[in-house]
Amino acid sequence: MPHKRLFIPGPTEVRPENLLAGARPQIGHRGAEFHELYGRIVTKLQGLLETEQPVFLFTCSSTGIWEAAVRNCVRERVLCCMQGAFSDRWLTVARANGKEADPLKVEWGRGVPAADIDRALSSGKYDAVTVVHNETSTGVMNRLDEIAEVLRRYPGVTFLVDAVSSMAGVRIPVDAWGIDVCLAGLQKAFALPAGLAVASVSRRALEKARTVPGRGYYFDFVEMAKYHERGETPATPAIPQLHALDAQLDDMLAEGFAARFERHALLAGIVREWARSRFAIFAEEGYESATLTCVRNTRGISVADLNRELGRQWLQLSNGYGELKEKTFRIAHMGDTQEWEVRGLLATIDRILGA
Ligand code: PLP
Repeated sequence: MPHKRLFIPGPTEVRPENLLAGARPQIGHRGAEFHELYGRIVTKLQGLLETEQPVFLFTCSSTGIWEAAVRNCVRERVLCCMQGAFSDRWLTVARANGKEADPLKVEWGRGVPAADIDRALSSGKYDAVTVVHNETSTGVMNRLDEIAEVLRRYPGVTFLVDAVSSMAGVRIPVDAWGIDVCLAGLQKAFALPAGLAVASVSRRALEKARTVPGRGYYFDFVEMAKYHERGETPATPAIPQLHALDAQLDDMLAEGFAARFERHALLAGIVREWARSRFAIFAEEGYESATLTCVRNTRGISVADLNRELGRQWLQLSNGYGELKEKTFRIAHMGDTQEWEVRGLLATIDRILGA
């Protein structure tokens, strides 16, 4: 039975080899074989993120690390940069975890100007800031380097970054940019099954966490750090996903991280050129995402009908998110996607629309 080839911005298409990598006999999570697996994964993730900080493995989706980040790293008040459905939700999560949180709102489709963050932080009210690197609902990729430059002037502010739909798709030099928590799930640019998420956690953030009350248990960074030293997680992890991650990181190394990022840039360029000539791009110029394109539906086509037709050919893209439904549609070009696949999708859309 064929399946619909996913061009949605998560979960993304998983190669059969990586599905099979998880289909192995279970191993105990307190033994030498597991310690080796854990160590291999952490070392490779540190290479990907250009960091010497620990990288923790979480058996949950990215939302879980949103909770973890605010519970461990917000003492008084957090500034939440909001520019779309996911960045907006991080504020909701912070408040649901009992934290004082203020919005820094930017119109959907726009990037967060570093100067706005600077202005807000200069009030001295905040000890943490949340930024979504790549807002998946609008296809906007923030200029994290410029934001990092601002954060450098506020050493007392913990820098929390959601790289859910950018990690493993674009370069994120975590240490050079001084990111305290950089988190992502595996079902986006890692092109792996959902169920596992990862985050680099700076030693500075860990020190702070020790002094923040109410960290809970499952997501307590201090507890995770203790187990991390032994090459373990505090609770039983999703072992099949860890095997798949180990295998996929080897494949990424074989391709080369830089080559992987270049491939993402190439695919983004192809989709953007197509989108500009047929429709328009939702993201503000200069902030277009390298991993997905949110297309503004300037021709008033029925996105639902288009997707139905694509489905007959075992292809699937994504309608706009929430209130952007039918006003936009999204094409993911991340993970292990190749040029011929993207060109095939675009040619099929053209045929369906009679372009
Ligand atoms: N952050 C971003 C940028 C996302 O795109 C998503 C989901 O698409 C999430 C967070 C939440 O991820 P999950 O539903 O896997 O917890």
